[in-house]
Amino acid sequence: MLAAVKTDARDRPGTYRLVAEGGEVLYVGKSKRVRARLLSHFRAEYPRDKSARIIAEAASVAWDYEPSEFAASLAELRLIKRWRPRYNVMMKRDARHYAFVRLTAGTAPRLDVVRTAHADGGDTYYGPFHGAQQLGEALRELNDAIGLRDCALDTRMHFADQAELPVAAGRTPGCIRYEIGRCLGPCIGAVMAAEYNARVALAREFLAGAHDAPVALLREAMEEASHRLEFERAARLRDKVARLESLQDQFARMRVAIESLSFCYEVPGVNGDDRVYVIRRGCVRHETTAPKDSRERALLDTLAADLLSPAAQRSRAVPAHEIDELLLVASWFRRFPGELERTRHRFGRSPYMRV
Ligand code: SF4
Repeated sequence: MLAAVKTDARDRPGTYRLVAEGGEVLYVGKSKRVRARLLSHFRAEYPRDKSARIIAEAASVAWDYEPSEFAASLAELRLIKRWRPRYNVMMKRDARHYAFVRLTAGTAPRLDVVRTAHADGGDTYYGPFHGAQQLGEALRELNDAIGLRDCALDTRMHFADQAELPVAAGRTPGCIRYEIGRCLGPCIGAVMAAEYNARVALAREFLAGAHDAPVALLREAMEEASHRLEFERAARLRDKVARLESLQDQFARMRVAIESLSFCYEVPGVNGDDRVYVIRRGCVRHETTAPKDSRERALLDTLAADLLSPAAQRSRAVPAHEIDELLLVASWFRRFPGELERTRHRFGRSPYMRV
């Protein structure tokens, strides 16, 4: 492997993979200079360094060149998703300081805070956010204000209008949230499916910034408590309102942050292989070679206008399969803010880059 790298690899941007005897892809990496990066694997100290342990297990090495470091980063991400290499899974922990709000699919959806997003479950994700604990507290207020459940996912649900009730209606639920008016009680047939789903829709609208009802409800209760001279209760409600408002703020900032990652990005490539990426909400929607004349540029502008139109950006949630790419693109422009000079058709004038 070392001889092959020394003889054939060049110092160009690209991805590489180390493959075990049976064909398992053990590790995928990328570098601005593939040859130098691969040679560094062979200099690593065995068994202390992970790089050296990967080399010890590998039977072959292969690489592909990319036009730029940005292209190599995108290619690496896609290869990791495709092969899920064992050593990448062990080493890839970049996203662990982020948190996401998840709205689960299925019967009686619930909102919770999670560290990772899974593309296969049909759940909806909002984020990424910093500060999982604060986010969790604010979300609890939202759940309480609109009566959504927050119990374990496998808790059995049955709505009042379900044909068969597996347990008798009026049963005491597994927690006291129903008793104290913080959950509609979809576990004991205390609510119709449509009513519960209307509250879920309210939560969606609140998170999308289109509805203020949960905050308005709490404010009303706070004012009532104040009129009745129940100052302790009023103070508790004031804190709840503050937490919900902070959740609203976080969501508003996240929306601006994600939407600001919408533009055409022109990247100079090795040997004139320049590329243009049309990026919408942090994900590459179209990639092409840079236009060579005014006709090609006009065609690209038309396509970009279409892909970046407000209608195309309607959705507020981030599809789970786009989250990794969104994090990659956000991190790229945070590390290299000067690259924003190469973007056109940007959403807003001052992209907020703290995703
Ligand atoms: S009342 Fe029932 S549905 Fe609501 S949180 Fe408790 S166990 Fe879950």
